[in-house]
Amino acid sequence: MRWFFRRRCRVVYRSEYIASVHAQDSHRAFDVMKFKKIRDQLIADKLMKHGDFLKGERASDEEILLVHEKKYLETLKSPMHVGQLLMLDYINPWDDYVFEYFRYITGGTILAVEYTLDHNIPVFNLGGGYHHAQPARAEGFCLINDIAIAIEKARKTKSIRKVLVVDLDYHQGNGTLMIYQNDPDVFTFSIHAATWEAIEKENNLDIELPLHVSDAEYLTALQDAFPAVFSSFQPELVIYVAGSDPYIKDALGEFDLTEEGMLKRDQFVFNEVRHRKLPLAIVAGGGYGKESWKIYYNFIRWVLEKGY
Ligand SMILES: [Zn+2]
Repeated sequence: MRWFFRRRCRVVYRSEYIASVHAQDSHRAFDVMKFKKIRDQLIADKLMKHGDFLKGERASDEEILLVHEKKYLETLKSPMHVGQLLMLDYINPWDDYVFEYFRYITGGTILAVEYTLDHNIPVFNLGGGYHHAQPARAEGFCLINDIAIAIEKARKTKSIRKVLVVDLDYHQGNGTLMIYQNDPDVFTFSIHAATWEAIEKENNLDIELPLHVSDAEYLTALQDAFPAVFSSFQPELVIYVAGSDPYIKDALGEFDLTEEGMLKRDQFVFNEVRHRKLPLAIVAGGGYGKESWKIYYNFIRWVLEKGY
């Protein structure tokens, strides 16, 4: 029997995921080829073939409006305005490729969520996790909140309600938290360095750790807090924002997790979710610098090789 029948996960990617933006210093740290590098390495290592990747559709206005305000969406259709929001050095006023990039990646997150709900196989999107975006506001290089859009789409089409968002990006998932502030059916779990927004919410757990936290300290905090979420909240779907910016070599983050520590973090979350046989969609989140791609790659590689 072909390995097709033993698939351990699926990966979503398409060529529109290359964000060819010329940005100021803070954004220049983002490796625009990051997701393509991961795709190419998975193929080079014979873990996947070209035809194995799932392709999402471009997120439509209707889908974006499940979370964002119409007035805000209209402003995103102006490339000049998008350039200002993201503080881009250069933008062609007639070319909307930046917003299109966000639309395609959001379509990938929608597909990852729908696919894992339909087949109960973990799905990675090679991008996404724009957790700072709010209904009427862009923040921290996030134009639209793909996580919330995918949740709302699934709630409409797949008859689920209860979702756990596990956000281990170095930065707090403040946009997602704000969007679900009054919704106890979305549990927001986040470990981060600084709290951008302190919001009172039922079914939220925000853990702030000090700068330069080590593997052992980080993993202890995660292991102590995460499993307990499942005893108080029974999710029908888990979305994991696997940001690689807690990595010690990250160009922006200031945690000291090693490459091994990052993989242990991802393995722990994955196992906790999959031991409970829950559908799992994973998005990339942040991660900056030339070595960032390896962290997410290691995680996908481990899932492809291990099986369960
Ligand atoms: Zn981040």
